[in-house]
Amino acid sequence: MFTRHFEYWPKRLSKSLPIPETTIQDNLETTMKRYPNKTAIVFYGTEITYKQLYLEVNKLAGYLQQELGVSKGDRVVLYMQNSPQFIIAFYAILRVDAVIVPINPMNVKEEVAFYLADCDAKVAIAGQELVPEIEPCIGKTPLQHLIVAAYCDYAQKGLDYEVPPSVAATKQTFTSAGIINWGDALSADKVPEPSQAKSDDLCCLPYTSGTTGKPKGCMHTHKTLQATLLGGIVWAHSSPADVGLSTLPLFHVTGMQHNMNGPIYLGATMVVMTRWDRDVALKLIEKYRITRWTNISTMVVDFLANPNLTKDAVESLKMIGGGGAPLPEAVGEKLYELTGLRYVEGYGLTETMSQIHQNPLHRPKLQCLGVPQFDVDARVVDPVTLKELGPHEEGEIIVTGEQVFKGYWNRPEETKNAFVMFEGKEFFRTGDIARYDEEGYFFLVDRVKRMINASGFKVWPAEVEMTLYKHPSVQSACVIGAPDPRRGETVKAFIVLNDRGRGTTEEEIIAWSKEHMAAYKVPRIIQFLNELPMSGSGKILWRKLQEQEEQKVKG
Ligand code: AMP
Repeated sequence: MFTRHFEYWPKRLSKSLPIPETTIQDNLETTMKRYPNKTAIVFYGTEITYKQLYLEVNKLAGYLQQELGVSKGDRVVLYMQNSPQFIIAFYAILRVDAVIVPINPMNVKEEVAFYLADCDAKVAIAGQELVPEIEPCIGKTPLQHLIVAAYCDYAQKGLDYEVPPSVAATKQTFTSAGIINWGDALSADKVPEPSQAKSDDLCCLPYTSGTTGKPKGCMHTHKTLQATLLGGIVWAHSSPADVGLSTLPLFHVTGMQHNMNGPIYLGATMVVMTRWDRDVALKLIEKYRITRWTNISTMVVDFLANPNLTKDAVESLKMIGGGGAPLPEAVGEKLYELTGLRYVEGYGLTETMSQIHQNPLHRPKLQCLGVPQFDVDARVVDPVTLKELGPHEEGEIIVTGEQVFKGYWNRPEETKNAFVMFEGKEFFRTGDIARYDEEGYFFLVDRVKRMINASGFKVWPAEVEMTLYKHPSVQSACVIGAPDPRRGETVKAFIVLNDRGRGTTEEEIIAWSKEHMAAYKVPRIIQFLNELPMSGSGKILWRKLQEQEEQKVKG
């Protein structure tokens, strides 16, 4: 069955999986017609059928289109934690042929204002707990209308497990200018015009950061989403009978595709968690007989450390996998002992709408990115000369395929730099250094790009540095990933204080950072230096500091 991957596969690009010419919202419509009364979403005790989901999507879509004037190609920011409303809003934005801009609910005011301005969004949909961060943007950025949802609307009370504070919180009613309460939008009962979307239309603009410090929107079409979606479903043998545990954040491409769009394509059930909690996850796996759990490896590490975990509680699981960060080998073995399942690791980027590599379900290797997915042509090349390398040689992964994005929103220069012509085709440069073995399995070795992977949270030093430079005491700053046994890497900042800033403490910088950037980007370690190492041309030698840290660990 997997023979094509046991050859020297990179030279081959087989058209093995035709990608549907339909759009993502067509998937929901088809599923609703097939399984109207089947449970689509389970959310803290509440079950929502596909019919109900479809009807609510259409009501919200009607409001967006008829009352707020959202039309084809308009960007709508989606700033929410995992919830039924996230899913409804996602599909409502698509239903009116607009473009979803999903942003991390951990973002704070300044970050939110940047996204709204960058994608020129006049409408946003947010969770009520995030209103303090986004409301100040109304009128000060392109944002004019904000629809606000309370997750408690869809959650049960008195459950025998704890629900996250944002779900337990009492519903607020907003009266300020520009804010529309979710319930009012739906009860307006507006009906949207038929969709005009085509498979090549832009439909999602997830942001990723980068070397310049400014996050960039990755332009994805219905087709790029369908490509990774279908590849993942077929590869992992998913079926409508599956019950998936949705623990990954839905704003990020892997959660979006594996924990939401995949189940909707199939008509499977999603048991949605707003916040990771290993005890709640265990309860839900047992209660709803979860069959599939696509996660980030750090969740598995935490899950397996639960003293209440038993073999019986997890016997329904048929597939556990994920990506975004490697799973430690010992944890992979422990998982196998408990469940008889091998962790199915995958690899991908925001630019590829989740996985482009995956381990074969029945023949995975540990700490391995897997083999290229259907129709993905991936090569390993010398990052400087672009000469193609052979098995066991280390080089940059470049890829082409329908999964690859169409470029960065309004950033032609960065788009140009992200691609390279190779054998007459445009390949995307991943910035990841890897090698592959003679069976075609890829292994991550390093990165060319400056990115920190802290427990799967991707932190881009240039973005953190740009914010740190705004601190009144900071003269210069260099951010690196310090090796961390638990988190893989942790964010560390080397800071040179200016004359005014003498006496500023580590705690002060950290407290200030928490106000100006999402918590996961905040440096956990600060080291003050008299000067930063510089190259002859005045560039900060971040790699030198990085290597010094790595050396410290090696001893
Ligand atoms: P993002 O755009 O946030 O999805 O981050 C993409 C980056 O995550 C990749 O370029 C890799 O550096 C990293 N990544 C993805 N999958 C894995 C994996 N299985 N193991 C290690 N790192 C990974």
